[in-house]
Amino acid sequence: KVCILRLGHRPERDHRVTTHVGLTARALGADGMYLVGEDPVIVGSIRDVVERWGGEFFIEDKVKWKQCIRQWKERGGIVAHLTMYGLEVGEVVAEMRERTEDLLIIVGAEKVPGDVYGMVDYNVSVTNQPHSEISSLAILLDRLFMGQEMDKKFEGAKIRVEPCEAGKRVIEL
Ligand code: SAM
Repeated sequence: KVCILRLGHRPERDHRVTTHVGLTARALGADGMYLVGEDPVIVGSIRDVVERWGGEFFIEDKVKWKQCIRQWKERGGIVAHLTMYGLEVGEVVAEMRERTEDLLIIVGAEKVPGDVYGMVDYNVSVTNQPHSEISSLAILLDRLFMGQEMDKKFEGAKIRVEPCEAGKRVIEL
């Protein structure tokens, strides 16, 4: 499994970005997201998307981050933290892919606790410039899955988009 651990979410400030971390993770092939902190609105909106657009993406809030990392490792998974200070994604992604299919990807909002850097298997950067958790996550997932996530089928969907040159075509299933 590939899951996201979202740290530092502040309900009053990060609502939109955290929602987009979840939507991006789901669209680009991840299996679920653990959210540190409580935000029933985000949990509801992601579950609503899964209900309508299919797939089995899960979201869980009120997660304790240290416990989440430890449990993930105890079960044999590896943990990567997205940070502009880490090793370049191109240098480490092949090794990550070969080690296991169980990857926990940590993304921050505000400053990430210093302990995180030492607890993880990889600190990974997507360029060494400051940008966003949404863009860095998207690029890591695309590199990890080597573009194959674009062909993912979302089972049990109630609606689906039929790509078209102009306009919008949505099919009710
Ligand atoms: N100032 C914060 C710090 O020093 O930890 C970072 C805030 S940044 C807006 C939010 C998140 O985006 C970071 O925690 C990291 O996960 C991700 N991020 C931003 N730039 C990145 C980069 N160049 N490579 C990888 N991840 C990045």
